[in-house]
Amino acid sequence: MKQVDVLVRGAGIVGGSLALALGRLGLQVALRPDPPRAGAAPDLRAYALNAASVNLLRALKVWDALPAQAATPVYDMHVSGDAPEGTRAGSIDFSAWQQRVGELAWIVDAAVLERELATALRFAPHVQVVAPDDTSIEASLTALCEGKASASREALGVAFERHDYGHSAIAARLTASSPHCGIARQWFRSPDVLALLPFDTPAAGHSYALVWSLPAERAQALQALDAAGFEAALMQATGGAAGTLTLAGERAAWPLAIATASAWCGAGWVLLGDAAHVVHPLAGQGLNLGLADVATLARVIAEREPWRPLGDARLLRRYARERLLPTWAMGRLTDGLLQLFAHPAPLARELRNRGLTLVDQLTPMKRWLTARALDA
Ligand SMILES: Cc1cc2nc3c(=O)[nH]c(=O)nc-3n(C[C@H](O)[C@H](O)[C@H](O)COP(=O)(O)OP(=O)(O)OC[C@H]3O[C@@H](n4cnc5c(N)ncnc54)[C@H](O)[C@@H]3O)c2cc1C
Repeated sequence: MKQVDVLVRGAGIVGGSLALALGRLGLQVALRPDPPRAGAAPDLRAYALNAASVNLLRALKVWDALPAQAATPVYDMHVSGDAPEGTRAGSIDFSAWQQRVGELAWIVDAAVLERELATALRFAPHVQVVAPDDTSIEASLTALCEGKASASREALGVAFERHDYGHSAIAARLTASSPHCGIARQWFRSPDVLALLPFDTPAAGHSYALVWSLPAERAQALQALDAAGFEAALMQATGGAAGTLTLAGERAAWPLAIATASAWCGAGWVLLGDAAHVVHPLAGQGLNLGLADVATLARVIAEREPWRPLGDARLLRRYARERLLPTWAMGRLTDGLLQLFAHPAPLARELRNRGLTLVDQLTPMKRWLTARALDA
């Protein structure tokens, strides 16, 4: 048996970041990935990352290694409601300068971020990436970062309270005839939510990452369309606000749910990222929450009493207590927005349109919303 301080199971972005963060504390870390899946396509999503996530990745020396075109700053965000026939849609605008920040978020290529994390892990002095079937590791603490379908969480008997929305999110890369100017756009269209995130690949200044969540059957129908049919549906949904949009590659779809584990830690084990909690991607916060888990656990461990073992349940509860409220609040916010915009009745549409416009005029409220999104 090989003894290490921490065994991290799951080498996604959360698991990889945790291994690096704990290695930098001088702990001996083993990272055990999943066996590689034959024919698995690279992740074509782009993540909206907030300032706190960027700071963590920068401290781990991953952020500055990203090629320039893999990370695009967002300076403005325009969110539109769905107006009943013949009326003007309500909208709300966020801008970095009004919030006194350099940028509202960064849009980052998921596959490139995973690749740079893997490179950093290869050179991290205290981290050893072990084979997926290596069962010879003994650790004081096991961190489960295996994503929403975590088998180790299930083996521990921890329940995962999950509500499936019956919706799927379609992700794709697009090129646009008009420059994106660093503006993210989102449409709440009852019941679907469509986001265009400014991006610089494949066409610098003219690309978007699409995240379009819709009822599963409608998503399936859109996926079955050829490129021209899908582009026509996109143009109809966006009304040409971002110029003419053209698909720049494959599309992929993810089923959507909100979920939380019934316990996030116990003696010798802890859950992080999607293994602990899943939220709807409409606010682009799932990974931000996972990276905030990483930062919190690393700090709790760094600040522990010298006599306290790493797997001590009381120590791990400090982490869980700190993360529970922000994660719960983000789950409620995304779920609430989704429910609010799901109702197709004209009166409901009229009220939420007015609500959007009202919030747009309330500067303190906008500041509060932006601050929540900036540091999940
Ligand atoms: C369409 C869409 C768009 C999104 N956009 C955003 C966004 O803009 N911003 C944002 O912050 N979040 C976003 N999210 C959420 C984000 O994708 C997740 O929160 C994030 O990927 C979770 O990371 P993770 O490392 O916890 O889990 P995962 O990414 O699921 O990684 C888990 C890893 O563990 C491995 N694994 C599984 N089982 C085992 C095992 N038994 N042993 C070892 N390894 C195992 C898996 O192979 C995988 O590598 C989006 C989600 C979707 C669906």
